[in-house]
Amino acid sequence: MKQRLAARLAERRAQHLYRRRREVQSAQQPALNVDGKPLLGFCSNDYLGLANHPRLIEAFTQAASRYGVGSGASHLVCGHSHEHHALEQALADYTGRERALLFSTGYMANLGTIAALVESGDTVLQDKLNHASLLDGGLASGAKFSRYLHNDVAQLGKKLAAASGEKLVVTDGVFSMDGDLAPLDQIAAVCAQHNAWLMVDDAHGFGVLGETGAGSAEYFGLNSEQLPVYMATLGKAIGSFGAFVAGSEALIENLIQFARPYIYTTALPPAVAAASCAALALARNEPERRQHLNQLIVRFRTGAASLDLDLMDSFTAIQPIRIGDADTALRWSQALEQQGIWVGAIRPPTVPAGSSRLRITLTAAHTAQQVDQLLDALAHVQRALT
Ligand code: PMP
Repeated sequence: MKQRLAARLAERRAQHLYRRRREVQSAQQPALNVDGKPLLGFCSNDYLGLANHPRLIEAFTQAASRYGVGSGASHLVCGHSHEHHALEQALADYTGRERALLFSTGYMANLGTIAALVESGDTVLQDKLNHASLLDGGLASGAKFSRYLHNDVAQLGKKLAAASGEKLVVTDGVFSMDGDLAPLDQIAAVCAQHNAWLMVDDAHGFGVLGETGAGSAEYFGLNSEQLPVYMATLGKAIGSFGAFVAGSEALIENLIQFARPYIYTTALPPAVAAASCAALALARNEPERRQHLNQLIVRFRTGAASLDLDLMDSFTAIQPIRIGDADTALRWSQALEQQGIWVGAIRPPTVPAGSSRLRITLTAAHTAQQVDQLLDALAHVQRALT
């Protein structure tokens, strides 16, 4: 075992795929302190800039004073507090679904939900670029599992026509490494045609897409019949932590009874739920954050296009620049850091080989001037490296 571990690490290094963590010594905001030096960050998923908002901090500290820190147990034992309950009701209301159920993380929500819905003999169909937690959920579910080409609705239709048992189609709403949207209106239509259920992971859409920020479902105007399983996380645009699934009474009660990652884990700290609740109100009632973010996205894309950088087909806060091989992507990221900018190089296995990229994310906490600073740094690095 010792030799295997050492050999694996050596191989990762040789492939330029070694991952290392950085130590952040400040709150989540654009101006960060990282490993003892100031960096302007463009890699956070805090899309609305709420992670460090005074109202979240206040809600968190007030709830911690009342409930303490730990929830003490799982939801079904004695860990389900009033704060969790209130958040579930607020989420159901925001998403226009009958009920919502909190999970401790998005990863667990995806694993638990897929496995609770399908059995052996059923079929799970997923987009090829779905998040790892969805793919893992499909593989672990015991159902037949197959992937369709990215956003290829025609291929999905063919696979559905040939599928057996209960059919569950699963897709990201916004793809986390590309920033593009799934064509949910078309996917929902093909699901209806083949009597399949649709599950959407809207980790990167919830809070930012749609008129009121209620996510991809709102953006495409899909109700609970068309999109029966709506999942999203609270650690990105909502600036907090955790995740939820929203849908019908029968769906939620099934998850409470059968979703093992729901049943067998400690409930989130109540203070985290209270902070999420405060964040939902801000996300819903202050559309100016989304407007500002959208202006920054246009500003960035215009500037990057004039530099001839290889942008992807995205109008969301996720604005990757395609580089190609892992080594070059890493060199861009390191050169940007020398310019005071923190952008992660995303490499295999997170993305397919040959499609390594800089994953730039914008947030409502950035200023137009900071976006210009990023563009200046990109121009500088481009001159130096190409
Ligand atoms: N789904 C998607 C699309 C994600 O990007 C993420 C987080 N990277 C998750 C699920 C997992 O959510 P969490 O971080 O809450 O486990």
